[in-house]
Amino acid sequence: ATTPQKAQAKPKQPSSPPLQRQNTKATPPSPPSIIRDRRGQFQFQRVGFLGEGGFARVYEVEDLRGTRVACKVVTESSLTTKKTKTKLYAEIRIHGSLSHPNIVAFQECFEGDNNVYMILELCPSGSLMDMLRRRRRFTEAETRFFLVQIIGACHYMHTHQVIHRDLKLGNIFLDGKMNIKVGDFGLAALIENPGERKKTICGTPNYIAPEVLFDTANGHSFEVDTWSIGVILYTLVIGRPPFQTKDVKAIYKRIRDNDYEFPAERPISPEAQRLIQHILAPKPEERPALLDVVHDVFFTQGTFPPHIPASAHDRAPDFR
Ligand code: ADP
Repeated sequence: ATTPQKAQAKPKQPSSPPLQRQNTKATPPSPPSIIRDRRGQFQFQRVGFLGEGGFARVYEVEDLRGTRVACKVVTESSLTTKKTKTKLYAEIRIHGSLSHPNIVAFQECFEGDNNVYMILELCPSGSLMDMLRRRRRFTEAETRFFLVQIIGACHYMHTHQVIHRDLKLGNIFLDGKMNIKVGDFGLAALIENPGERKKTICGTPNYIAPEVLFDTANGHSFEVDTWSIGVILYTLVIGRPPFQTKDVKAIYKRIRDNDYEFPAERPISPEAQRLIQHILAPKPEERPALLDVVHDVFFTQGTFPPHIPASAHDRAPDFR
């Protein structure tokens, strides 16, 4: 298993490299411009490049009716070990079993041209990370809107025994109507027996719950996603993650010590502060249930916009 120390390999970007990913060393060849499966059931035209992660490259493609979708491509040559194959099949099985308005829809999966292809709902407006870079921070009204949808998706996953384990702004996409679409189930785990605990150390440094790093004997469960939601809430309203610092080891120390503050130069409401403190409880059993989070005063008082205008990509909306 990858140890947390491994993430130190890229000290310049302490927050971005996820743990527990295989990294293909050379850039794989692009998939063909017409993507087909071996049985001639599916055909897509490649029209653009959307992005890449540690595991796959994602393209914008068009089906025969002209509908645009996203195509996640994993080269078969990168699936050299049984472990990497098992992980990919787990991602496909888990993501393919989920259907929720705030989760990136998983449409098909097939093999061809020495690649495994996953056809996903297209999220043309990028991720919350991209939007935060442009905006620096969000209003509390926008944060309420986004967070309720993220929590709705996460509650749905948990009721289907799925822990996402890598909830972060870069894995939370937006559709054309500014609705949330949670994606990337590459680190997700299925809880097959009630009370089962997971022991693999995985996640992304800034968002990783303390029990994943420091209670490896006891393991972790659904509450790791609640923790990540607390980190997301803090990051949306403050503009940077709570435990962010120069190197990964120091991030882990701050997570262990629950060492974060509310900077005076970026004031937030006392309700937001209290909710963040409640969610970022060091002990997983002391974190609130997701349904209690959405009933918190942070959500029940103050503006709750019915929708977010597309102009919010670049500037704060005025909800008066
Ligand atoms: P990995 O599992 O390798 O980390 P991701 O699923 O995170 O791959 O995808 C890598 C990148 O591709 C994302 O950061 C994003 O830019 C883009 N991407 C992924 N899924 C979609 C999608 N459904 N719509 C649009 N862009 C996407």
